Amino acid sequence: MKVLKFGGTSVGSSKNINNVINILEDYSKNDSVICVVSAVGGITDKLLLAGKKAQNKDAAFLEVFNTIKELHLNIVNELIPNNNTLVKDFVNKRLEELNSLLDGIFLINELSPKTSDKLVSFGELLSSFIIAETMKSRGLSAERKNSQELVITNSVFTKAEVNYKITNKNIQDYFKSVNQKITILPGFVSKSENGEQTTLGRGGSDFTAAIVAAALKVSQLEIWTDVSGMFTTNPKIVKQAYPIEEISYQEAMELSHFGAKVLYPPTVQPVLDLEIPIFIKNTLEPKAAGTKISNDAINSKKPVKGISNIGNIALLTLEGSGMVGIPGFSKRLFETLSQEKINVILITQASSEHSICLGIEAKDAQIAKAAIDATFENEIALHKIDPIIVEDGLSIVALVGDNMKNHQGISGKLFSALGKNNVNVRAIAQGASEKNISVVIAEKDVKKALNVLHEQFFESKTKQLNVFITGVGNVGERLVEQIKQQRKYLKDNLKINMRIVGLSNSRKMIFKDAGIDLKSWKEQLSDGEEASLQGFFDKAKALNLRNSIFVDVTANKEVAQWYAQYLRESISVVACNKIACSSDYENYKELKRLSLKYNAPFLFETNVGAGLPVIDTLNNLIASGDKVNSIQAVLSGSLNFVFNNFNDTTKFYDVVKQAAAQGYTEPDPRIDLSGVDVARKILILARESGVEMNLEDIENTSFLSESGLKSDTVDDFYQTLIDDEAHYQDLYASAKANDCQLKYVAKFDNGKASVSLQEIPVGHPFYNLEGSDNIVMFYTERYPKQPMIIKGAGAGADVTASGLFADIIRLGND
Ligand code: ADP
Ligand code: ASP
Ligand code: MG
Repeated sequence: MKVLKFGGTSVGSSKNINNVINILEDYSKNDSVICVVSAVGGITDKLLLAGKKAQNKDAAFLEVFNTIKELHLNIVNELIPNNNTLVKDFVNKRLEELNSLLDGIFLINELSPKTSDKLVSFGELLSSFIIAETMKSRGLSAERKNSQELVITNSVFTKAEVNYKITNKNIQDYFKSVNQKITILPGFVSKSENGEQTTLGRGGSDFTAAIVAAALKVSQLEIWTDVSGMFTTNPKIVKQAYPIEEISYQEAMELSHFGAKVLYPPTVQPVLDLEIPIFIKNTLEPKAAGTKISNDAINSKKPVKGISNIGNIALLTLEGSGMVGIPGFSKRLFETLSQEKINVILITQASSEHSICLGIEAKDAQIAKAAIDATFENEIALHKIDPIIVEDGLSIVALVGDNMKNHQGISGKLFSALGKNNVNVRAIAQGASEKNISVVIAEKDVKKALNVLHEQFFESKTKQLNVFITGVGNVGERLVEQIKQQRKYLKDNLKINMRIVGLSNSRKMIFKDAGIDLKSWKEQLSDGEEASLQGFFDKAKALNLRNSIFVDVTANKEVAQWYAQYLRESISVVACNKIACSSDYENYKELKRLSLKYNAPFLFETNVGAGLPVIDTLNNLIASGDKVNSIQAVLSGSLNFVFNNFNDTTKFYDVVKQAAAQGYTEPDPRIDLSGVDVARKILILARESGVEMNLEDIENTSFLSESGLKSDTVDDFYQTLIDDEAHYQDLYASAKANDCQLKYVAKFDNGKASVSLQEIPVGHPFYNLEGSDNIVMFYTERYPKQPMIIKGAGAGADVTASGLFADIIRLGND
């Protein structure tokens, strides 16, 4: 014989009940079965809601009652369309009783736990009756037995304790003489020894099934629900969670005690000693394998079997020197809580015995505080201990696995994964048996923590990167396109799951928790909400996703001012915007400090040489112990383009215009032509070489004409280029006379930096630099004579975008 239990969703509609009936019919072909059912999905909550409303004198309880009534009568009509008068009469009669009970609650303004149990019992009593009658109407050998006549408890209403002696005998006696093949039992409901209606606690139908299974020593217990087994973690919170094939009783118990709702925690207890295996199956997908809970899984190799969490936790902290070495202190504390019937979920004590920390349900926190403060009134008055501190808004996350004790480094992994993602751990508890490591964290971090830990322990092969991009101009657009094109490659080859979660230009912004569909990102963005830097940050923070990366693809000063905020949230920053790194030295240093402190990389490879690996190479030299003596470089793709195309047959103005049109200059060409852009770049290289320097410290000899230097607007500036053509032709003529090429050179030597236009003679490495190429020569202790040279395209949207891309991937390889 087998016991099958079907949960709320499984019996939540006529369609699902038909599924259940098919499953039972199939099973009953070979053997007799017992089927325990929950109330129709959502009915228990609705009954309690109606009760609460009635208690509060809110006449709207009737509306809730009517939805309950309608739902049941519809199900009856759909399941038994013909000859259903008798069934409907019975259902209507129960509903009338329910209505009277609610009227009574409304009248007396009171809903005691005892009445509440009577109220919620209607759910299971109705569903079991309807299901049994439907089966009978279809000619199946089925009967319903009211479990209130079998399961006998004490009178602790809403969560009564079972008297196994009487209950087991009742069940055994009843099933000795049944004739039907299928017996339907309402779950959850029971009666006290005094004949009062009691219940086994929310979710308790699982428990009813286990009690019956154990009393009859059946061969297996099956819990049929709306998911395909016990998952590695809550599948509603972590999309990548998957069903656990096999798990031990102990592990299943730990997971359910720590919040895996799929199994009501006490369910394992009755079947454990008898070694009756429990199978978790999916009514909506009966062919799926599901999970087997038994002793077979005890020796499984996997150290962590699942992760679960319980919300609405409060942490009580009792501290004070008066606790040290005083025996009986903890006893008094726990006795106080026990007297108040407060369940302690987690305990930690500092080894100095200076403080003790308890995790309890938040709803009990104030009662607990009052009771404990009263117990220790004297000690508090004598300042031996402090009044108890209560923190709420917390949640417990637990790693569970029988085999964790045999593996080193699990807690290390746990803490570093959480730490890297800025999840603050308030308290830690590890059971002596090491089957469970629990941490207390803020409720708001739960989704992120579960995803991070699941990735760490169950999907270690892929890492999800959540990217927020600001600025989708020329470069930004290429970046998005490159990500779109490479997503599959990254997943298959680098095990990186890169998703763009936020996207913004100066007008609009969009967000998608599960990743923006990049096929239509432009359309989505143009329909997005109004952009703001604050709004973008707020959203990135609120989404609180692991491995979040803010990418700045603007040249905007205001955007650069937000990096510190992002880093403080452990959101990494990748920027092609040079402003932050070339701003005041203190600001640059602060960003580096925040990056270290919050474990959030700050990468800006594209600040110098676009996609060329200039900064990365420099960082590697320094990290491996080398020292930079001097740097010589041509760092402006735009100036190189300009001076490569300018000669006595072209006009300076036309060449600059052409450079702008091809995207080689900044939107304001003065930033390039004045040398400021190059000065910023050499400044960044100097700083990355370890030198404290500011932009003002860089000697900048401008080649612009007087009026060009003084121009107020971009248009005025362009006009000076036309007016001062002769000035620029002179520069060219001089170089030509000397057989030289004009190059805009940046130097860093002996702690000093300069930028200027120079005449470069034949044979010099800079002489043949073409198009918009850049070149950087590092003279270091290891490269004293022959410099380390990096040369290549140093400007352009595609190469800059791929430099940003490389920085983002670097975070994925962390
Ligand atoms: P039923 O009504 O069938 O008793 P429950 O709602 O009580 O179903 O339990 C099933 C639900 O438990 C799932 O839909 C899922 O949201 C939740 N759940 C939480 N943790 C887990 C887990 N580790 N594995 C499977 N389900 C889980
Ligand atoms: N119907 C009850 C509840 O919702 C019992 C159960 O479904 O297990 O809590
Ligand atoms: Mg349940």
